[in-house]
Amino acid sequence: MSKYIPDIYQKSIYTVNYSKLYSDGIKCLLFDLDNTLISSKSLGVSEKTKDLIISLKQKGFKVIILSNSPKKKVKKFGEFLEVPYYYFALKPLSFKFKKALSDFHYLPKEVAIIGDQIMTDVVGGNKVGITTILVNPVADKDVIFTKFNRFFEKRKIKELENNNLFKRGNYYE
Ligand SMILES: [Mg+2]
Repeated sequence: MSKYIPDIYQKSIYTVNYSKLYSDGIKCLLFDLDNTLISSKSLGVSEKTKDLIISLKQKGFKVIILSNSPKKKVKKFGEFLEVPYYYFALKPLSFKFKKALSDFHYLPKEVAIIGDQIMTDVVGGNKVGITTILVNPVADKDVIFTKFNRFFEKRKIKELENNNLFKRGNYYE
């Protein structure tokens, strides 16, 4: 059950306490793309998001995009934000998480994943032993595959709520 529980749960990417992460030894932030950095229908990154990524890089974080989306889309945003990116990651499978860690020489304890989905971002991150940070999705309109995941996520969250392990809207650091 614990593989479904994020280490940190926040309302959005803007409410995460990045200074605390940094002082806790996190050096690399893996960001999910769809519904985390952008809404799934969005064609561009907001100024606010771009500013956040710039400030995180200035703070000293290595910022990387780790997305299940296809190359064309992920490349566009990776290049725009000037960060390395991994596309078609097949989260929750762990191999692209592991590839990112080995490509940039980070230990699991130095890395956090920030994403909007328990079934992909949180489960995948917990599998490789990095810090997992769940945020609420940017938009409610999901692509078909995400809808499929959301169905299971909903059931899983209900189970977690029944066991007092996790509750939507109860944010924690
Ligand atoms: Mg997502």
